[in-house]
Amino acid sequence: MDRYDLVIVGAGAAGESAAYEARELGASVAVVERDLFGGGCPFWQCMPSKALLHAAAVHHAGGDFDWPAASAFRDWMIVREGTDYPDDASHVSALEQAGAVAIRGEARFVSHRPLRLQVSRQDEAPLDLEAGAVILAVGSHSKVPELPGLDGAHPWTNRKGTSLRELPDGVVILGGGPSGVELSQVYARYGVPVTMVHPRDRIHDREHPLSSRYLAEGLQRDGVKIRFGVRATGVRPGAGTNGRQVVELSDGSTEEGEAILLTIGRDIPFEALNLGAIGVEPEHGRVKPDAQLRLSDGVWVAGDIAGPELHTHLAHYEGEITARLALGHAASPDFSAIPRATYTDPETASVGLLVEQAAERGIDAVEFTQDLAETAKGQTAQAEGHVTIVVDRQQRVLVGAFMAGPAVSETIHEAVLAVKTATPISVLADTIHAFPTVARALGSLFVKAHKELG
Ligand SMILES: Cc1cc2nc3c(=O)[nH]c(=O)nc-3n(C[C@H](O)[C@H](O)[C@H](O)COP(=O)(O)OP(=O)(O)OC[C@H]3O[C@@H](n4cnc5c(N)ncnc54)[C@H](O)[C@@H]3O)c2cc1C
Repeated sequence: MDRYDLVIVGAGAAGESAAYEARELGASVAVVERDLFGGGCPFWQCMPSKALLHAAAVHHAGGDFDWPAASAFRDWMIVREGTDYPDDASHVSALEQAGAVAIRGEARFVSHRPLRLQVSRQDEAPLDLEAGAVILAVGSHSKVPELPGLDGAHPWTNRKGTSLRELPDGVVILGGGPSGVELSQVYARYGVPVTMVHPRDRIHDREHPLSSRYLAEGLQRDGVKIRFGVRATGVRPGAGTNGRQVVELSDGSTEEGEAILLTIGRDIPFEALNLGAIGVEPEHGRVKPDAQLRLSDGVWVAGDIAGPELHTHLAHYEGEITARLALGHAASPDFSAIPRATYTDPETASVGLLVEQAAERGIDAVEFTQDLAETAKGQTAQAEGHVTIVVDRQQRVLVGAFMAGPAVSETIHEAVLAVKTATPISVLADTIHAFPTVARALGSLFVKAHKELG
């Protein structure tokens, strides 16, 4: 039985950052990973999708980035040049250099007090571990809907969606959330017929309605066909033109594509963990940690398994915080200002609450919007979009900001800081913003809010 101060299950953004933090605090650390050290972000999620979006943007603008070059660039990015599967050696060696023990295998709980886990390893005997504390950082994977006929169509998840080497003859994307909108733009800009099926009346619908609108218009300009307000009800594998998959929709119509990409949400991989051994039972596919991200005595969660949202930057933050907490140090997670961004053209970004969400929390909030096309930035860069802020009328502080337009994933951070620190609107209004930028449009809204609210 090997004993560690901290055992981390899962070596994605959350697990890795927890391991580095714990090593800095002097703890003995084992990190157990059943697939790729590094997790989803560098290999199947953020990095390949952003690399492909960049290539597609250059290609779309008439630059020299055809599909073979884009695919090769992506393969370089995910360390898969000339092979089928990415190479995670640099992640393993970085952990080992930091003094953590990297164990390849699948972990499951055996007992709670003492905290014991067993790791199943390929071609090796199972390994028994005892831990002072455990951080579960097991991430998430694509949700697969129960649709008649879907299995036979071999649907793509984000893995195939980001790692494809051959462009398909049409893609039907189920779901218009962040992954769906990003990948739809990549495929469409490389000439693939793309249909997005989205059950609600606007895509990317957790964002501001204006962000949804500008994004939908941008995707439609690129050739993406968006089917609003319909759901897939079944699939007829290979029954379409040239053997394409036929997707049956709730309004009786059909859409066809060689591939079906699933981007309808994420599931947490609980099956292998045997959470019952620590007295935890997931409800509706999720666990509920306390405000300190503690799931059970001695067990913390970080990253996608923990929520409240699914982003690499949040996973990284939670990994560090839970490492401190698990090792008995003081720390307090603050989820008041989590940035969200999609790297489409136009980009969307946001932080905090929509005006309706603020009202639901009893905040007397008001919204101010600036059409980006009417600003100097919009005119000089021929850019469309918006900047919208949500202000607490009583406290005179920013509670939300929502944007669509060029590089808004960068601009949002002033609003992130303002929400987190409850900076008075008077201070934000007195801050000088460079001309002409999207940030200046944000600044002009601070001035407007300050004047109108008095
Ligand atoms: C297409 C796509 C694009 C995205 N782009 C962005 C982006 O640009 N920016 C952003 O912030 N976020 C993005 N995200 C979200 C982001 O990738 C995730 O939120 C982040 O990777 C979560 O990190 P994690 O450490 O929680 O999980 P993961 O990276 O999924 O790591 C969890 C690890 O745990 C391992 N594991 C699971 N169970 C066990 C077990 N029992 N034993 C051992 N190991 C186990 C898994 O193999 C996995 O490697 C994107 C997501 C998708 C799908």
